[in-house]
Amino acid sequence: MIRRDLPISLRAAVSVEELSREEYYDEICFLGSFWPYSNRSFESRVVKGYKECVPVYDYGPYVMRVADFYCKQILRRLGQQHFDWVVRVMSSAETVPEQYRPMSLLASMLCTRLGARDCTQVFFRSDSRPPMRTVDKLSGAEALRNRIRYVAQDLFVRPANLGGQALLIDDIANTGASMRVYAFALKAFVGIESVVAVNLAATRFAGGKDGRGALSLDTSELESDFDLRCVFLDSCGAFHLAADCPLIKGNVSVDMRFVAERKARACPTCSSSHVRKGLGALLSLWKARL
Ligand SMILES: [Zn+2]
Repeated sequence: MIRRDLPISLRAAVSVEELSREEYYDEICFLGSFWPYSNRSFESRVVKGYKECVPVYDYGPYVMRVADFYCKQILRRLGQQHFDWVVRVMSSAETVPEQYRPMSLLASMLCTRLGARDCTQVFFRSDSRPPMRTVDKLSGAEALRNRIRYVAQDLFVRPANLGGQALLIDDIANTGASMRVYAFALKAFVGIESVVAVNLAATRFAGGKDGRGALSLDTSELESDFDLRCVFLDSCGAFHLAADCPLIKGNVSVDMRFVAERKARACPTCSSSHVRKGLGALLSLWKARL
């Protein structure tokens, strides 16, 4: 018999077979695609780059702006739906929800805009663990069962009777195991009545012939932001604003500018940092005059 007043081990409470057949969320959506082997997919680099902004305070205003971008994308997808709670899937390195993680920042922005509260703290883990991608890279039914087992193995939920509607968020979906386990726990032990699950991106398999359709994130808002726009990194450690810059050497991969600046130098021809400093100085002069 399950004691309602003690934390519940999901490993004991979850039936892997049942969860691989049943989805406990009421709705699920993916904002875009994550192409794991593509160097040229900007939206894949955006979600990966955002995920890696840990701790968020090391990435200053940039991570805030990417979070704001995702927040608006999610709100657009949700339409007029009402939510009482926002919950996020914890990352592999967390045992309790940590505030300095990018998904925590996003959850807090969503709470403000939706008038909801973050209830991620009903979850905790007994141990941190290697990221799920190290377990296996396969899609399909067996991978889903393995991943459900993997997510549930050290996850605990504190029983509560919160009621209402929850928005459940996660960064990159692989098989969708995390969403299934969290949604099940929220309904079975936390008293949540409905769960809408949103992933920032879905991992694409089989060259896109994976049944997930044409999932594509509109990144035009990022393109108009000086620090978040797409830049092109070459194999000599330089990044370029122009895809056709004559100084580009070797293989090219894309990234957000503020991420590229941490690992590459600006191309003197097309990406000079003087341009930014000049613009920054002009902007401060202009603001000072207002
Ligand atoms: Zn260049």
